Amino acid sequence: MTIYNFSAGPAVLPKEVLQQAQAELLDWHGSGMSVMEMSHRGKEYMGIHAQAEADLRELMGIPRNYKVLFLQGGAHLQFSMIPLNLLAGRASADYVNTGIWSKKAIDEAKKFCHVNEAASGADRKFTYVPEFKSWKLDKDAAYVHYTPNETIDGVEFGWVPDTGDVPLVADMSSNILSRPYDVSKFGLIYAGAQKNIGPAGVTLVIVRDDLVGHADPRLPTMLNYKTHADADSMYNTPPTYGIYMSGLVFQWLKKNGGVAAMEKTNIAKAKLLYDAIDASGGFYVCPVAKADRSRMNVPFKTADAATDAEFLKQAEARGMLQLKGHKLAGGMRASIYNAMPMAGVQALADFMVEFAQRKG
Ligand code: PMP
Repeated sequence: MTIYNFSAGPAVLPKEVLQQAQAELLDWHGSGMSVMEMSHRGKEYMGIHAQAEADLRELMGIPRNYKVLFLQGGAHLQFSMIPLNLLAGRASADYVNTGIWSKKAIDEAKKFCHVNEAASGADRKFTYVPEFKSWKLDKDAAYVHYTPNETIDGVEFGWVPDTGDVPLVADMSSNILSRPYDVSKFGLIYAGAQKNIGPAGVTLVIVRDDLVGHADPRLPTMLNYKTHADADSMYNTPPTYGIYMSGLVFQWLKKNGGVAAMEKTNIAKAKLLYDAIDASGGFYVCPVAKADRSRMNVPFKTADAATDAEFLKQAEARGMLQLKGHKLAGGMRASIYNAMPMAGVQALADFMVEFAQRKG
């Protein structure tokens, strides 16, 4: 039976990447060593690291005045590092609240500054993206933070806010590399690796260089972007194996047409599931406004928890795993990142139709 893993993260990786890692596990390119065993200062690992960065720069079209940092601590640590580094003496920052992950970023930022909640989806239970013209931005804010894809709520921005001279900061943990982004519109982009990049343990930060170097000198060295920017992410021992794996994913993306090709496939994959939901005559419900539905995380429910449980059990028996919704959301959630093949999504869509026919 083919297994399809719909986990929200850590999530499915491309099979070819895992096979390549397996083939290179004991002896990387004739070095006689596993990548895991290499000194991060040695020429082999330095080459792997530089290639990963170069490939990511090419894939995302990252301008030269941006630093690419491979850090640790997850997206959660960025919730603190962003205010600690970017406030630079200012007293407040703008945050847009579109769901559970925005809220976590907001709560952390409140420890360091005044948070102006510029817009919120709370009035409709976080099922939509508030229109830009309703945002109450503060021109003196140190930055504007938003979450382009809410992994739990399944709400995704189809557009990039224009915040003028105020740097735009984006938590792209669950949709980075899934569609083209013009990096020059952002001050800082960050993402935990474990969804669309590679294994857990690497956190990617892409930051415009003029935003680096303004932190309070008392900030712990490891929390200062400047430390990592000045040392090409090698101030301390980086998560070498995770960066190597991420690099293999970047090469896989390049071989498969890059982010523009991923976007095309991701649109088609998401459409299969949303069509199955919308054509079910109300058997399945996805509460998210159609224009703001996530291409990466598709949440849906049946009329009751018992039917949801039956759905999950039968899906699992057919090899479709990790479809249970987040505990705060309930129901089901299908995470269909870049590495989820079309065949997996088709199998799920077919099962959804069949299950609804049997039960409906
Ligand atoms: N932001 C978003 C949008 C996420 O989906 C997640 C993880 N699910 C996080 C932040 C937290 O990431 P981490 O576990 O790497 O700290």
